[in-house]
Amino acid sequence: MKTSRRLSENEKHVICRKLRETIGTEKVKDDELVLITYASDISPVPPQKPSFVIFPENRDDVVTVLQTANEYKIPITVMSAGVNVVGACIPEQDGIVIDLRRMNRIIEINTDSGYAVVEPGVNFDRFSAALADKGFRCAIPTAPGGASPLGNYISRPSGSLANRHLDCIQDLEVVLPDGTFFNTGSAQFPNVSSHLRYGPFPDLAGLFLCAYGTLGVITKAALKIYPINESNRVNLAAFEKFGNAVDFVKELINHNIPEHCIIWNWQLFKAFEVGLIDGEYKIPPETRLDPRKPPKGVPYNIVSTFMSGYEESMRTNDRICSKVAARYGGKVLSKKEAQAVVPGGVAGWTELYGKYRPVEPTFFGLGRYLAWIVFTEPKVVKELEKWAVEEFSKFKTPPVCYYSQPFDFGRSMFFRIFCFPDPKNQKLVDHIVNKYRQMYEVAMKRYGGVPMRVKSGYPALGLVGGYGKALTRIKKAFDPNNILSPNMRIYEEVTL
Ligand SMILES: Cc1cc2nc3c(=O)[nH]c(=O)nc-3n(C[C@H](O)[C@H](O)[C@H](O)COP(=O)(O)OP(=O)(O)OC[C@H]3O[C@@H](n4cnc5c(N)ncnc54)[C@H](O)[C@@H]3O)c2cc1C
Repeated sequence: MKTSRRLSENEKHVICRKLRETIGTEKVKDDELVLITYASDISPVPPQKPSFVIFPENRDDVVTVLQTANEYKIPITVMSAGVNVVGACIPEQDGIVIDLRRMNRIIEINTDSGYAVVEPGVNFDRFSAALADKGFRCAIPTAPGGASPLGNYISRPSGSLANRHLDCIQDLEVVLPDGTFFNTGSAQFPNVSSHLRYGPFPDLAGLFLCAYGTLGVITKAALKIYPINESNRVNLAAFEKFGNAVDFVKELINHNIPEHCIIWNWQLFKAFEVGLIDGEYKIPPETRLDPRKPPKGVPYNIVSTFMSGYEESMRTNDRICSKVAARYGGKVLSKKEAQAVVPGGVAGWTELYGKYRPVEPTFFGLGRYLAWIVFTEPKVVKELEKWAVEEFSKFKTPPVCYYSQPFDFGRSMFFRIFCFPDPKNQKLVDHIVNKYRQMYEVAMKRYGGVPMRVKSGYPALGLVGGYGKALTRIKKAFDPNNILSPNMRIYEEVTL
C-alpha cells in the first residue's frame, strides 16, 4: 500500500495553524515534551515522534482532524488510553496522534437492554464503578484500570467473559478518513437505540475489531453489560501438569459451569507477589528459578474458575469443581491453602473476578515486558505449552510467565507467554524479538496456531490469500491515502 509522506517544517506550521483555528488552540499540542511522551511505550517497537498531538472533545473535532490529515496525506495514529503493550499507538515519524482521552463521557447505561454507550476516553476504573452503582458489570481484562473498555474490546480482548461472551461490542460510531460517519448496529436507523448488533445488513462492526485504527476512528461505542448475580465464586484448583489443567477446564466448560477459567503457571502467580512482600518492593526469589521445576509445595499450574449465579447453584458448582479437579489429578485449594500458596493471586483474583474491579499488576519492575500470544485448539495447546516453556527457558531470563484461557466455550485456547529481559541489554531484547518471530512461524506450521496483536507480533495478512486481498481492498476504499496507522503492519505482504 502506498505510504503517506513526511511533512516539511513549513507544512507543519500551516497545518498546525489551520487545526488550531478550526478546533481550538488548546486541543492541538506541539510542545517537544508532549511529543516525546507519545514517541514510545514499553514495547520494543522503535520510538517515532509525532508532529502534533490532538485532543478532540467531540466527534466534530475528529471529523475536522481526519479531513485535514486526508487533505495533506498525514499519517494518523488513534489512541483511546494507549495501554496496549505492543507499540500499537506509536505514531509514524512526524504524523499526528489523536488522543481521545478528553472524550470521556458515559452517555447511557441501559440496564433494560444490557448495554452502555461510552466514549473512547472512559476507562475501566470509571466504567466498572458506574456500572456497579446500578448492579451491573462489564468484561474486565487483567489490564490496568486506566485502559479503556472501548480500546480493549475493539482489540478482541482476553477478558473475564471471553469464554461465554467473547464479543463485547454492540454498536460502534465510526468516522472514516473523508469525515463521513455512521453507526454499525441498530442505531444506524433513525430514532433507534443500540439494542441490536446484528440487523438486516452485513455486520460492519466486525470490520473495525482488530483493525488497530487502520480503517476508521471510533468515536462512541455501545458495549455489552451484565447484571451482577446474587452470588459468585473464584474457585482455585492446583495441577501438576498443564495438560490436566486443560482437561479440567474443558470439562467444566462443556458442562456450562464457569463463566470463565484461566490457567496460570507458577512463575506468573509468584510474580504477582512482586512488591507485596513485607509491604516493600521485593522480588520473590522463586521467580529466578527454572520455570520447568516449581519448588516443593508450589503447584505447576493454578486454574482460577469464575462462576456466578444463585447461591444454591454456587454451592453445587463448588462440589462439581472438586469432583472434576480430582478426576484430572488436581485439587481444589481451601481458602487457607490458597492464601499460603498464592497470596498475590488470591488478592488479585478476588478483586478482578469477585468484585469486578480492575487490578494493577506490580510485576513490571522485573524488566522489559515482552509478550508472545497465540491461539490454538485445546488438544494442541497442551503440546505447545511444553515447547514454548522450553524455548523461553533458553533465554535465561526467568521468570517465564504464561496464562492460558478458553475462548468461546473452549473452541479455541488463548496462550500468552512472556518474559522480562533487562531493558538495558538491547542485544538480548533484539534476540528475543527475533526469536518470537520464528516461534510464530513454528506455531502456525506445527501447531496450527493463530497469532494475535500484530504490531510487535507477526504480520500475517500476506499469508491468508483471498482474505488478505479482500481486506486490503476494503482498506483502500475506506482510506485511499493510507493515512490511518500506516505503520501498523497488518497489510504487509509476508510469506513463510
Ligand atoms: C499490565 C497489562 C496487562 C494487560 N492484560 C491484558 C489482558 O489480560 N487482556 C487484554 O486483552 N489486554 C491486556 N492488556 C493490553 C491492554 O490492556 C489493551 O490492549 C488495552 O486495554 C487496549 O485499550 P486502550 O484504550 O489502551 O487501547 P490503545 O492502546 O489506545 O489502542 C489499542 C489499538 O486500538 C486502536 N484504537 C484505540 N482506540 C481507537 C479508536 N477509538 N478508534 C479506532 N482505533 C482505536 C489503536 O490505534 C491501537 O491500534 C494488558 C496491558 C497491560 C499494561
